[in-house]
Amino acid sequence: MERTFSIIKPDAVSKNVVGAIVDRFEKNGLRPVAMKKAQLSKEQAELFYAEHKERPFFGELVGFMTSGPVVLQVLEGDSAITKNRELMGATNPNNADEGTIRYDFARGNDDLSANAVHGSDSPEAAAREISFFFKDEELVG
Ligand code: UDP
Ligand code: MG
Repeated sequence: MERTFSIIKPDAVSKNVVGAIVDRFEKNGLRPVAMKKAQLSKEQAELFYAEHKERPFFGELVGFMTSGPVVLQVLEGDSAITKNRELMGATNPNNADEGTIRYDFARGNDDLSANAVHGSDSPEAAAREISFFFKDEELVG
């Protein structure tokens, strides 16, 4: 069993497809062990995405991630990190494979920030991102 961290981004929350996205996870063997809705502050978003600080899209990404509520989750399952990345699809929803979350819920969005979901890309990132938003006692396996 492995754990990964997921964000349902403001574009998907505003489209009211939180349940549809959680359903994808559940149908594919990922179980939410923690879940909360949150409005990120600028400081939180900047720290969370610190690895992208020098990238040209950083300001826009932080602006987007604080533009409305998000849903934060810890997902548990076999190979959860890789499985979640597969279910998400490519970063650019217009390049994402059919049937992925980004294809189904973010295709056609002009803004690359608005790609429906975030998912940890490595065990180190998963550990950092989970502890960034959740206390150990909030993870209920
Ligand atoms: N992003 C962007 N422009 C780019 C690349 C990335 O706006 O050229 C955004 C996009 O929302 C992405 C996030 O920055 O989800 C983090 O980028 P990363 O390369 O980590 O993509 P991910 O891991 O989310 O697929
Ligand atoms: Mg990433």
